[in-house]
Amino acid sequence: MARRMVAGNWKMNMVADSAKELVRSLSVADAPCGVDIVLFPPLIWLRELMSEAGDGGLYFGGQDCHEADFGAFTGDISARMLSVAGCSHVIVGHSERRKFHGEGDARVLAKARAALEHGLIPIVCIGESLENRERGETFEHLGRQLDAGLVPLGDDLTRVIVAYEPLWAIGTGRTATPEQAQEVHEFLRGRLHAAAPDQDVQDFPILYGGSVKPANAAFLMEQPDIDGFLVGGASLEFESFWAIIKAAGVDG
Ligand code: PEP
Repeated sequence: MARRMVAGNWKMNMVADSAKELVRSLSVADAPCGVDIVLFPPLIWLRELMSEAGDGGLYFGGQDCHEADFGAFTGDISARMLSVAGCSHVIVGHSERRKFHGEGDARVLAKARAALEHGLIPIVCIGESLENRERGETFEHLGRQLDAGLVPLGDDLTRVIVAYEPLWAIGTGRTATPEQAQEVHEFLRGRLHAAAPDQDVQDFPILYGGSVKPANAAFLMEQPDIDGFLVGGASLEFESFWAIIKAAGVDG
């Protein structure tokens, strides 16, 4: 992808004041050119944060969406609602949704489709467990997730962002080495291209996520198939998030 991206998944963290302060700092800082910054705050603060950001060049998204437009789904927010609220992106299939809400690949696919239908860019998360990796089943597992959750999108795959998030690296402080991440990203790019062969192979954006920190971001970013990051913990503080954003810039 021509542009790079750094996405901050705040999960269920931050209250209004600290969230606003972080958005203010990010919106006035001088972002490296070619890097899109997308924030995924708790939705209850979305409107205030968008107005705080003004025209500071930040994008906002939902941490999840429901595939139906409306209905009796207590606690859920639809892709359509996120779009109307001004979001540009939505995360689907995050491992915490898969683990704590029992969401599988078919549901992830339905959510990605709903997002696309409403003009949102879905960030579809996939990743293997430590057990998968230790048994040598990383590619088999990822292949299954791709086949069930992404491949049916066909040419729309270039409108989707894939986030490779090995489960053993999320929130653990243990990051994939640049070589491990590159090996997987190259595999994913090849499989995505095979599913939409008329598209340019570079047009499938793939982010890495899992304990990205200022200390490892630049090394990961040197890898040819890493187009940016999905960041959890380190996106909650300006200094660490900004250092990662700078590392994602073309000049690092
Ligand atoms: C995440 O939850 O998507 C994530 C990457 O978290 P962390 O950066 O904290 O590992």
